Amino acid sequence: MNRREALRAWLQDSVVVADGAVGTLLRSRGFPSSLPVEAAVFVQPERVLEIHRDYLRAGAQILTTDTFRANRLHLSLHGLADRLEEINVRGVELARRAAQGSPAWVGASVGPLKVMLRPYGEVTEEEAREACREQVRALAGAGPDLFVVETQSSVLEALFFLEACREAAPDLPVLVSLTVGREGRTFFGDSPVEGLRRLAAAGADVVGLNCSLGPADLLPFVEEMARRVDHPLAAMPNGGYPAEVDGRIVYLSSPEYVATYVRRYADLGVHVLGGCCGTTPETIAAIARLLKGRRPVRRQPSGGGRLEAEEAPPAPAAEAPDDWHALVEKLTGMARQLAQHCELIAREGHKVVLRLDPAHRFLQPHQDKLRDELTKLWGAPLRLEIELGAPRETPKARAEKQKRARQEQAIAAIENDAFVREVCDLFDASIDESTIKPL
Ligand SMILES: [Zn+2]
Repeated sequence: MNRREALRAWLQDSVVVADGAVGTLLRSRGFPSSLPVEAAVFVQPERVLEIHRDYLRAGAQILTTDTFRANRLHLSLHGLADRLEEINVRGVELARRAAQGSPAWVGASVGPLKVMLRPYGEVTEEEAREACREQVRALAGAGPDLFVVETQSSVLEALFFLEACREAAPDLPVLVSLTVGREGRTFFGDSPVEGLRRLAAAGADVVGLNCSLGPADLLPFVEEMARRVDHPLAAMPNGGYPAEVDGRIVYLSSPEYVATYVRRYADLGVHVLGGCCGTTPETIAAIARLLKGRRPVRRQPSGGGRLEAEEAPPAPAAEAPDDWHALVEKLTGMARQLAQHCELIAREGHKVVLRLDPAHRFLQPHQDKLRDELTKLWGAPLRLEIELGAPRETPKARAEKQKRARQEQAIAAIENDAFVREVCDLFDASIDESTIKPL
C-alpha cells in the first residue's frame, strides 16, 4: 500500500487531528521578526523541534514542517534563495525527528507564492510554475509522508502546486487547502467551494479551508464545503481574529472555544482537523480531547445548483466533456483565466451561456479567445454568450452574517467559561442563549 492508499484507508476509519500554527507560535516564543519564520530551521532548530514535540504530545497526528513560504520568490526577498533546498530539507528532517517512534505523519507545508501573473503582475505563468516545482522537489527529496499545500489564495496557484507534487512524488498524498476572506472569496477572488471542487477534480487527495477567519466565521464556509464537495475534507481555522494588545499581535480565542467549533466541523463530516495562525499546542490538546475516538460522519453532498446545470443540456459534439471544471483545466492562458471565473449556465446545441463573476469582469474582453479554444476542444462551431452575475452578497446580508457570528462567539465564550460552568453545575442551571448579547 502506498502513502496515498494508506491515507484513504486512515480517513475512512478515523477523524485525524493535525497540528496548529508553527509560524505564529515561533514568533510568540520569541523568534526575531527580522527573519522569515522558515529561517528558524537553521537559526534555531531546537526551537522548531520543540514546537513539533509539543504538538505531538498534545495529540497531533500530522506534524507540518516549518517550510511554509520556502519558495524562491519569497526567500529571495530575504536574501535566502540560495538556501532554499537546505531549508526545505531541514524542515522535513526536524518534523521527522520529532515524529520518530510515533505513528504521526510528517506533512510538508507549502504556502502560497501570492504573485500576480502577467499581464497584471511581473511574473510569468512559467516562472510561477517553476517556483512551485523547485520547492516541492526539495521537500519531496527529504521524504515527507504527505504534502500540505495550505493557505492558498489563488486556485490557479494551488493547481500549479498540486501538479508539482504529483510530478515530484506520484505516490504521496496531497492535501490542498484554500483560505477565504470575510467577504467569502479568496484573496484573488475565487469562490472557495468552487475552487475546492476543481482541486478535487484535478486529483487532490484531501481538500479544505484554513487560516484567515476565526472558527465561528469559517463555519458557514465549512458547512457549504461539506454540502457541496464530495471528497475527503480538512478544516483548520485561526485562533480568532488577530488583535493588537500592548503593541503585540494576539489571537483572542480560548483553546476550548476553538475546539468547540472544530467539533462542529467534525459533526459536518470533515476528516482532518487542526488549527492555523494563533492556535497553540493547548488548542490542539483541546481539539484532540473533544475528537478522541471519533469516526468520520458520512455525508451525502448534493453538489448544489451548478452541478444540475452541468448535467442537464445535451452536448453539441460527441466528445464534449460534461464537466465544466475538467474542461477549464484543458484551456490555456487568458481563456483559462476567464473560464475559471465563469459558471456554465446552459448549453443548448451550439449555444453556450456562461455567467461571469462580476469581481472578474475585467476578464470579459478575452471572450473571443475563450470561444476559439472551446470551439477547438468541442470540435464544433460555438456561439458564446457571457452574462454578468449579480454580486454574491449585499452589505446588509454581510452585516447580518457578522452579527450572527458575533452572537455565536459570545454564546460559546460564556458556555465555555469555567466559572459559568461551575455555577451551572452547582445550581443545576442552564444558560438561556437568547439572553446573551455580544459586547
Ligand atoms: Zn494561518
